Amino acid sequence: MANTQQREVILSVLKEAGRPITREEVLSLGRQQIPRLGSATVNRAIREMTETFQIIGVDFPGQPRRYELPAEQEHPHFICRSCNKVFDLPVAMQLPEVHVPKGFVVTGGEVVYSGKCPACSKEA
Ligand SMILES: [Zn+2]
Repeated sequence: MANTQQREVILSVLKEAGRPITREEVLSLGRQQIPRLGSATVNRAIREMTETFQIIGVDFPGQPRRYELPAEQEHPHFICRSCNKVFDLPVAMQLPEVHVPKGFVVTGGEVVYSGKCPACSKEA
């Protein structure tokens, strides 16, 4: 299978999901497009695409790493405490400037809200 084909599938899966998804979700959604998509293949492609910033890894404490497409602007994430899905919140956001102690170099930041997603709040 051509390298570019795997990458295109991963990009299209992330685009369609519209929220950060786990490696397992990338694999199962990718297999809907290419049934013989291999787990090792997806791992390798994800690693390479993360290194080249085609996709972004998103980490939350106690959660499996998720991936999303690079966003045009900073946005907060939302984690549902019921179904554990992570969403992008489509709201403009600017991280507050922090004055860190000498020796610290800040290269990024993350704002995460939590609660219930629309599907889960409807069930309650
Ligand atoms: Zn939910």
